[in-house]
Amino acid sequence: MEKREFLKRLGLLTAGGVVAGSVNPVAASSMVDGFAKKKEIGLQIYSLGRELVADVPNGLKKIKDIGYSAIELAGYGNRKMGEYSVEEYRKLADDAGLKITSSHVNPPTREITKDKLGEIADFWKQTVEDHVKFGVKTLVQPMMPSVKTHDDVAVVCESFNQAGEIAKSAGIKFGYHNHHMEFERIVTEEDKKKQTNPWMPVGDVIYDLFLNGTDPGLVFFEMDVYWTVMGSNDPLEYFEKYAGRFPVLHIKDRSVLGQSGMMNFQNIFTKAYENGLNEFYVELEGIRKGDKTQFEGVAECYDYLAKAPFVK
Ligand code: MG
Repeated sequence: MEKREFLKRLGLLTAGGVVAGSVNPVAASSMVDGFAKKKEIGLQIYSLGRELVADVPNGLKKIKDIGYSAIELAGYGNRKMGEYSVEEYRKLADDAGLKITSSHVNPPTREITKDKLGEIADFWKQTVEDHVKFGVKTLVQPMMPSVKTHDDVAVVCESFNQAGEIAKSAGIKFGYHNHHMEFERIVTEEDKKKQTNPWMPVGDVIYDLFLNGTDPGLVFFEMDVYWTVMGSNDPLEYFEKYAGRFPVLHIKDRSVLGQSGMMNFQNIFTKAYENGLNEFYVELEGIRKGDKTQFEGVAECYDYLAKAPFVK
């Protein structure tokens, strides 16, 4: 076989030639009889916004055509996915050849208090019931509840554990997805007294309190690596310190993956795999209007990961 043809079949030939680093042990190990094993790459459908909502049946097929094999839902509410029932949406995904493996759902309130735990648990029971029909493996709370004190954090963690228990009884794993606010700190009067240098932060990081306050058997963390960096933190430090708590990631950059220079995805994937990464979802925000479509951006993200030798 011509080298050029061989590389084309491996998907390693770009307009500019061979992708840098394409011949390496990682890529080689994923080859079966000379053909690269297709990577399982998931997409958080929020990335497509209105472009998907405008035509869900064809939009899902387009996601599959790009190469994605799984989707993480956003938009479940009132026991429906937009205008579609749970069963209808599942059928559309099946017809497109996509697996619905995860879903982002927020509880009915951001103010999680002791007296609301029962109501929130009922909400999760109903939500889990519907998500069994979607066929998901994971269910993820994507927005931070309001927390100002350590007591607030304790109730939130209790609610996360409760949701984890409910999901687990149906064979689904419950997780939490972060933005940058989770890296703010809760600073008590005691903490302030300890502060000797105005540049040295004191107090507890909310994300760490969530990690430490939840049962690892019930709650996992779907780290959004971009928002973690935006919160002035290093994803790698978290993967090491809390090994096993990040089986799923949101792979996101400022815009199309790998183009900003802010995100070291090679280091992120390498360290995450070492510490238990199983799945990840591409998320894309920030395509400028008129620049390109979200679908085009999502296709570029797929190509980036499909060609990256550090992605298994
Ligand atoms: Mg995200």
